[in-house]
Amino acid sequence: MNNFYERNSALSDDSHNPMKQARFTGIPTFMRTPLVTDLSDLDIALVGIPYDGAVTNRPGARHGPQAIRAASTLMRSIHHVHKFSPYDLCRIGDIGDIELSRMYEHEHVVREIELQYQRLVEADVMPLSAGGDHSVTYPILKALGAKGPVALIHIDAHTDTWDEFSGSKFMHGTPFRRACEDGLIDPNRTIQIGIRGAQETSEGWDYSLEQGMRVVFMEEFTALGVKQVIDEARRLVGDHPTYISFDVDGLDPVYAPGTGTPEIGGLTTIEAMELLRGLRGLNLIGGDVVEVAPPFDPSGNTALVGATLMYEILCLLAEAKAKEKSP
Ligand code: MN
Ligand code: MN
Repeated sequence: MNNFYERNSALSDDSHNPMKQARFTGIPTFMRTPLVTDLSDLDIALVGIPYDGAVTNRPGARHGPQAIRAASTLMRSIHHVHKFSPYDLCRIGDIGDIELSRMYEHEHVVREIELQYQRLVEADVMPLSAGGDHSVTYPILKALGAKGPVALIHIDAHTDTWDEFSGSKFMHGTPFRRACEDGLIDPNRTIQIGIRGAQETSEGWDYSLEQGMRVVFMEEFTALGVKQVIDEARRLVGDHPTYISFDVDGLDPVYAPGTGTPEIGGLTTIEAMELLRGLRGLNLIGGDVVEVAPPFDPSGNTALVGATLMYEILCLLAEAKAKEKSP
């Protein structure tokens, strides 16, 4: 593992570690990790899903992976709270983007994404993904939850448990409804955090609550505080295999304006980071950061926020994966 990050250099006789070079140099892979094509080389795969064909309003999240990759060149390795580097614990690489052969056919997109994540499951590689709109989490869960429902920690302004939009069952407001119907997530081990914003119908909220999901509306989050929400999330998921899905619109648009459906009055970045750090030690199986929409992000800050949240989740996953490898 020690030389995993070393690659042959075409320009010199020395081996080359992209993560040890100046951060403004090199090809902008996620976190400057090596671009990897052989899954047997990997413990954790960083994956881009450049798809936003399922948005209800403002598009642009298809550009998320490239913008997050570029912003992630700012990331460093040793976490200042955890005091470890995820790259010392696991072999972590960028495997590029999910390939879509028919990107204008939603149901086909769902199938293609699912098949590519099945390969990761078969290779025992843990995925950390960058969207894309939130519809992409459903096919990820189809692959990861195939053997039984997983627990879910979901940060978002929206429950994404609506039934359909404009006649389509596959869009970015429905992934967790579909996942619940298919038995991919356990609603009693699902917590949705940061929910807010007016809706035309309450159908999505109602569905989550009827299924037994824990819905933490933003006002309750503020009243309880981060620590109590962490305690409740930990109690709820226990040691069950758990997936983390972070929709960047869960944050206040002050921090993440570059997203399709912003809702004011959301989490701050420090609250989000504390929340994620509080999930350390759980039995984590993967995660995603979705809905970064660069066309609405002129400052690039939302991409930086997305990259940083990915790094925070990466630390948690690396620790979980290392424990799985040598318990
Ligand atoms: Mn969402
Ligand atoms: Mn959302």
